[in-house]
Amino acid sequence: MKQVYDITIVGGGMAGASLAIALSSHGLRIALIEASPLKVDSVPNYDDRGIALALGSQRIFAALRTWEGMEEQAEPIRHIHVSEQGGFGFTHLDADEEQVPALGYVITARDLGAALLARLSRLPDIDIIAPGRVQWVNIEDDLAHIGLQEQALCARLLVAADGGNSFVRQQLCFEVKRREYGQSAITANITPGRHHQHIAYERFTRNGPLAMLPMTQQRCALVWTVRDEMAGEILSLDEQQFLERLQQQFGWRLGRLQRAGKRNSYPLSQLYVPDAIQHRTAVIGNAAHTLHPVAGQGFNLGIRDVAALAEVVLQGIQSGEDPGSTTVLQRYQRWRRKDQQQVVQLTDALVRGFSNDLPPLKLARNLGILALEGLPPARHLIARTAMGLTGRLPRLSRGLSL
Ligand SMILES: Cc1cc2nc3c(=O)[nH]c(=O)nc-3n(C[C@H](O)[C@H](O)[C@H](O)COP(=O)(O)OP(=O)(O)OC[C@H]3O[C@@H](n4cnc5c(N)ncnc54)[C@H](O)[C@@H]3O)c2cc1C
Repeated sequence: MKQVYDITIVGGGMAGASLAIALSSHGLRIALIEASPLKVDSVPNYDDRGIALALGSQRIFAALRTWEGMEEQAEPIRHIHVSEQGGFGFTHLDADEEQVPALGYVITARDLGAALLARLSRLPDIDIIAPGRVQWVNIEDDLAHIGLQEQALCARLLVAADGGNSFVRQQLCFEVKRREYGQSAITANITPGRHHQHIAYERFTRNGPLAMLPMTQQRCALVWTVRDEMAGEILSLDEQQFLERLQQQFGWRLGRLQRAGKRNSYPLSQLYVPDAIQHRTAVIGNAAHTLHPVAGQGFNLGIRDVAALAEVVLQGIQSGEDPGSTTVLQRYQRWRRKDQQQVVQLTDALVRGFSNDLPPLKLARNLGILALEGLPPARHLIARTAMGLTGRLPRLSRGLSL
């Protein structure tokens, strides 16, 4: 006989693992299925990329008692400095002005993943099926049926957290909107000559945005967007040539760039699922929205999905509702839609607005950036948005338990 779960989550990346943690300890039968062995060196996206966690996301992890496993590896961002290469405008955001200890934190995906997996390993009510690849799904009125290589199980609610190429989303024919950017992100951890002073630099260059984020051990996490055709050549440069090329683009705000760690490259596109629920199914994280990393919002949006879905599902169950019913899932969808649409549109506007080098547009951009610098209320709104602290906040984002 098939095992019946209340909730089955497909994907043990950051979104799926976080959701399993959020739902645990409430008397539910939960299964987490991950295609790779659930170890930090095996799960594909638990790699060395630096993840900028917004303050709101940090609060969610604190409420989930997972932040204590991340804190030591996370470096606070106290200022954000935005400028354009060859332009005169700049603007900034500042933690003191916002009266918060930090605007966010930078941690490698590997350290974040390690903390999630350590927490998961202490939660006895989650059945972890890993390695286990979902190969078919079939939704019936009363249950979702999920098939792996050698077993099948059922769930009242199936959550697809299986990433940008989500198998579950494709099987269930969710509508998807895509945009290709023709850009790739090159990441590396950089040791600069000068201490970063907890400043995150966002610099818009002719080829795409470049971010240098403050990390532990006086390093910076580089996310350098380049046109696809340049990525191979930049990856093939030796360390010295790479640092010189980067220095030309970034400038000297961090002194001479001294060392570069392992480089990786990621092709970038945008994907958005306008209706991320169906009967018995919810799609979350990158499976629902894959973003350009320009504003570091991809996972921050995903963890807000997690916090809202866990809250709606647990409230539904407490009121005797079926967690996979359309009524419960629509409540989640209505709550999340505005935030998702705004972040997707804003990220896209940033990428496209700054990828055009026409002189009048460049002048307008610089004037815009400069005007923003003189408008504290506008900067305050941007800071609150970047911290994930606008709109109706889930209990976890307010530091409350579920
Ligand atoms: C260069 C770069 C920099 C970034 N920087 C930031 C940042 O600063 N801040 C931020 O918030 N976000 C950032 N992001 C985005 C962030 O990395 C992603 O949003 C996040 O990793 C997505 O996590 P996820 O769990 O939704 O998906 P994934 O990490 O893709 O996880 C999906 C999991 O599902 C598993 N899976 C897939 N198919 C199956 C199947 N059939 N059966 C079972 N398991 C399956 C996979 O093995 C995988 O482990 C960045 C992204 C990039 C590329």
